[in-house]
Amino acid sequence: MTRRRITILGATGSIGQNTIDLIKRDADAYDVVALTGAGNIAQLAADARALNADVAVTANEDRLDDLRAALAGSGIAAAAGQAALTEAAARPADWVMSAIVGAAGLAPGMAALEQGATLALANKESLVCAGALILETAAKHDARLLPVERIVITASGGAFRDWPLADLPNATLAQASSHPNWDMGQRITIDSASMFNKALEVIETREYFGVSPDKIEVLVHPESMIHALVGFHDGALMAHVGPADMRHAIGYALHWPDRRALPVERLDLAAIGSLTFRAPDTDRWPALRLAREVMARGGLAGAVFNAAKETALDGFIAGHLNFTAMAEVVELVLTQMDAAGGHIDASMTLDNVAAADHLARKAARDIIAKRAG
Ligand code: NDP
Repeated sequence: MTRRRITILGATGSIGQNTIDLIKRDADAYDVVALTGAGNIAQLAADARALNADVAVTANEDRLDDLRAALAGSGIAAAAGQAALTEAAARPADWVMSAIVGAAGLAPGMAALEQGATLALANKESLVCAGALILETAAKHDARLLPVERIVITASGGAFRDWPLADLPNATLAQASSHPNWDMGQRITIDSASMFNKALEVIETREYFGVSPDKIEVLVHPESMIHALVGFHDGALMAHVGPADMRHAIGYALHWPDRRALPVERLDLAAIGSLTFRAPDTDRWPALRLAREVMARGGLAGAVFNAAKETALDGFIAGHLNFTAMAEVVELVLTQMDAAGGHIDASMTLDNVAAADHLARKAARDIIAKRAG
């Protein structure tokens, strides 16, 4: 069997580590081209050595010496910075996992698509910021669209699903960073509690499948056993059911179009007994309402939304904003940039997406500073 060339962008994160877990179980089947990370140099170097990668790249330029030292004697090349990340993604590979968190994943993901790799896209922000551009590039490489009538995306409801609404402004960073069902990176865990993560997924679904927003529903499902449902014209619903383990989705993408055995728990539905569902409450999760507004606005509103959300999240993590203020900041940035016109209406090029992203981050930082002062 020919060995598949693999690159993992965001290798040190939760998705990246689950991907590496699967690769290590069948190491002879793969040649690892590039692994990338940011602050976690020790993990990046350890995995690069274990998988004998050609190159390891940190996004943080000031950590290049640390990475070089950690790789000393291994023969593995070390590089750092944004350009190096994109260069690593552009190296010929058959399959690239895009698992950087945030809009930072967009340019490397595009570079991977352009060199013809199959892109396993965990980085939902890419589709939210520049869906049309990603799909246009992917179309040259056998992207598939599925005809469905209705898509229901389930949400666990995150850490504050059952909290009294009045307590939400006082939620602490530790409370927001603890997910009831999934073990994920800190940022997406907080985004789950605020439902910004689900808002991103709604926009991602709209972009990827090209269905109109009114066909995309969100359903709160605390057990996280059903991951999504699709509805067909005859009224039938098909549910995707499985354990809360991302190695499932990653393994599916890794082995597609085959379905191989995966090291995940087999569900015992009789032991689980019952599954529950409820409609989402937009007073608790205003991010879901904002996602609808972003889709209605179109253009580069997704890039503005994502950038404002990332900056508000930084503000919450740094203790400059309370939990519920994140959505208020994002809404204000959307309103300001909508009124200013130009940037949201610009054509979808990587440069225009970067400019909208930059301005939205600045607007969000200004609003946060004003609130603090
Ligand atoms: P993590 O926070 O666990 O990992 C993020 C990765 O990105 C790490 O490798 C991190 O490096 C790297 N990174 C952070 N900042 C930058 C930057 N500025 N430039 C380049 N690399 C950077 O996130 P997750 O693995 O949880 O999520 C990754 C992506 O997958 C997100 O887009 C998320 O929405 C999506 N996703 C995640 C799911 C999950 O179950 N976790 C499910 C579905 C989608 P380091 O750690 O070295 O600093």
